[in-house]
Amino acid sequence: MFEKVLIANRGEIALRVLRACNELGIATVAVHSTADENAMHVRLADESVCIGPPPATDSYLSIPAILSACEITGADAVHPGYGFLSENAQFSDILKEHGVTFIGPSGDDIRIMGDKIAAKQTVDRLGIPVVPGSPGAVEDPQEAIKIANDIGFPVIIKAAAGGGGRGMRVVEKREDMEVSLQMTQTEAKTAFGDGSVYIEKYLGKPRHIEIQVLGDGQGGGVHLGERDCSLQRRHQKVWEEARSPALNDDQRAKIGATCAKAIADMNYSGAGTIEFLYENGEFYFIEMNTRLQVEHPITEMITGIDLVQEQIRIAAGAKLGYTQDDISFNGHAIECRINAENARTFMPSPGLVENVHVPGGLGVRVDSGIYSGYSIPPYYDSLIGKLIVFGNTRNDCLMRLRRALDEYVIQGIDTTIPLFQDLLKEKDIMDGNYDIHWLEKYLAKDA
Ligand code: ADP
Repeated sequence: MFEKVLIANRGEIALRVLRACNELGIATVAVHSTADENAMHVRLADESVCIGPPPATDSYLSIPAILSACEITGADAVHPGYGFLSENAQFSDILKEHGVTFIGPSGDDIRIMGDKIAAKQTVDRLGIPVVPGSPGAVEDPQEAIKIANDIGFPVIIKAAAGGGGRGMRVVEKREDMEVSLQMTQTEAKTAFGDGSVYIEKYLGKPRHIEIQVLGDGQGGGVHLGERDCSLQRRHQKVWEEARSPALNDDQRAKIGATCAKAIADMNYSGAGTIEFLYENGEFYFIEMNTRLQVEHPITEMITGIDLVQEQIRIAAGAKLGYTQDDISFNGHAIECRINAENARTFMPSPGLVENVHVPGGLGVRVDSGIYSGYSIPPYYDSLIGKLIVFGNTRNDCLMRLRRALDEYVIQGIDTTIPLFQDLLKEKDIMDGNYDIHWLEKYLAKDA
């Protein structure tokens, strides 16, 4: 097992990883920018190293700075959290060259899954159902029109290197193809440094359902069930639940088994998430994330498995040590992403947190790094906490969530807490009856 893990991240996820290390008896190193000197992950770590000025490109994304921090502190492994360098194959490779373990999959697996075209081709070969579309990158508008005619409009043009809900454009009709193709290519080139795009059938009313997987790189692969992340704004998840209100046990077992087998066949090592759109009883692969997800706690709540500890164990060379039959799913869990944003306009609201009161009680978990007197810096994303609630049934979970949200007090800044309180008044939400467009429509109604 590792002796000292450097956590190459900030905010709630740095704390999450720190907690897993503490429970495994592993020493921790926090890294931070000058804007994060007073962050909770820095305070709680055994050691900390300042790695640069506030802009992430000069600190949390700086590979040389993080490598130096490893050298100075003698850390033998790095946990990247999510975002930042978590899906950077080069980072994984460089750490390896320096004798430091990257807690995540191999550089090659990250590279394949980071290219959405290669990813789609790979999982297709492994028997995972994909969205109908172009077999590879598309450059020529005439070819694009032909593909779109074959699969039927509307279609969606997507950047091969895209992520974070960016680099996508829906095309409703033939006449719009040429301009849309060009625009998406240009945007992809500017945003991701790679202008390759591909085409997929645009699904009208899908749910977003993703399968959590674990592989040990030694032939072992399991799935930990699904998460329903259909409640999204601008392709960004807002509320996630496990299990999905839309699936029955048979569907769950079937898609889960397909994913677990693919992971074992790939000899994948670490935690991963295989994302699907789900419509009319069919699953369509959209991408695989080769890292821990923001919404991983809901899976932990219903399986009792600590995903971060599993990542660390696997990276240290352990076998899974259990099979699919050993994993059971109990109850229901929901996560609300608490952002420092206005709940209606979604304007970021950084600044001084005057007072915080966190909800508690049975089945309530809060993963957050903020505290009374903490000042939220304006440089990073606006997620300041996650409220995760467990109940024996979905209904128990919803009632408990309402209670927990009412207890949650964050003063001094705007947060998205009122949005969740409003959502719990909606019949569709209470019934679990929503697709990926539901939230945008709901928000537009009020605007
Ligand atoms: P990213 O890597 O940017 O998160 P994804 O491929 O995971 O991109 O897609 C993000 C979201 O975009 C999905 O959850 C869904 O809301 C929408 N989306 C992606 N592909 C399609 C599609 N073929 N049809 C309809 N919506 C899609």
